[in-house]
Amino acid sequence: MFSRFSREPIKEISVTVERSALKKVAPYLIRRGYEYPCLIMDEMTEAAAGEKLAVDLETSGLQPVRCLVEAKGNGDVIADESTLIRTLLCVPRESDGLVAVGAGTIHDITRLIADRMNLPFISVPTAASVDGFASQGAPIILDGVKQTVQTCAPEAIFADTDVLQSAPQAMIAAGIGDMVGKYTSLIDWQISRLIADEPYDVEGAARTSRALERCIQCHQSIVDRTDAGIEILMKSLIESGKVMMQVGHSRPASGAEHHLSHYWEMDFLRKGKPQVLHGEKVGVATVLIAGLYRNLSHVDLLSALSDDDSISEERKIRLQTRWHDIQALWKKIPSPGDIAALLSAVGGPTRPQDIGIDSDLVFRSLHEAHLLRDRYTGLKLAFDLQLLPETTADLASVMI
Ligand SMILES: [Zn+2]
Repeated sequence: MFSRFSREPIKEISVTVERSALKKVAPYLIRRGYEYPCLIMDEMTEAAAGEKLAVDLETSGLQPVRCLVEAKGNGDVIADESTLIRTLLCVPRESDGLVAVGAGTIHDITRLIADRMNLPFISVPTAASVDGFASQGAPIILDGVKQTVQTCAPEAIFADTDVLQSAPQAMIAAGIGDMVGKYTSLIDWQISRLIADEPYDVEGAARTSRALERCIQCHQSIVDRTDAGIEILMKSLIESGKVMMQVGHSRPASGAEHHLSHYWEMDFLRKGKPQVLHGEKVGVATVLIAGLYRNLSHVDLLSALSDDDSISEERKIRLQTRWHDIQALWKKIPSPGDIAALLSAVGGPTRPQDIGIDSDLVFRSLHEAHLLRDRYTGLKLAFDLQLLPETTADLASVMI
């Protein structure tokens, strides 16, 4: 990571998750030789942390600039063409670093601009809502279609638990939603290796799995918003992002549940409907996918393959040798009811209708979301084997 200003390149993201972490930003920036940081935030995150941080930087002798990202008419901040250009124009040429003060979308906007302006950026999350803080990928909307652009990771993350605890409950529930998605993404990652020889990393999978387990063990303290609970949720989300960075792709944290979520998001964009938090969609999608995989874990492969001409002979043989292992993987996933209970305990949605998704959209997404990424998943396998619900009435078999 190089900036156009002379500064030691960073080898590892420095992560600070603790009370009053905001206070550590100014000493860090001064130590690293910054003078003109530009704070990128929106109205909400300025109130939550940005204004306090800006004042702190000023009293420490820095010359911060405040750059407010505009929300759309419906109140959403969306990383699309107009938002990106407007924000870019708001960053002064003399800025020597960017500070993202906000949740996922503010980070996506900041990391794209930082990358294209060849500036380093510092992450100040205002909610433990998503695992994208540490990642290099920036999902942005171009011509109404969501695309992930490879950009840069922050050189440091300062997550102040006082700020995170004050975030709206829905953001914390979304963070849990993005974490429970690992139940199915980790299984899909193994399926992609078993069926399609996609790249796998044992250590990366173990780290993501440990982050998920820590969240589940401490679930009650997250529900209660204790210091420790919020810290564990945030650290788990950051760890998940770091694993994606290290393996160089998002498979550890993004399987069929994320593909459904992306499908729904694009449908909402097309219809101009207000967006639902990423983690809320992922949580709901995880419950659905867990239901589908539970059903698949009882399917007899030979009868499923008998009249299927769309699968190559080579893949049929591979399926026959690995089917038992794949079914064992599916059986490891907690029941949809248990996953839903984790989400509802923290106030999160659990069913598609809770977030404005009707059965027609659920049906279409189950059949088409696998086309969004060139990646093998259990959902794609179910499609190939023609084991998906055949009508919207059949959806009851995978819904809670
Ligand atoms: Zn996610």
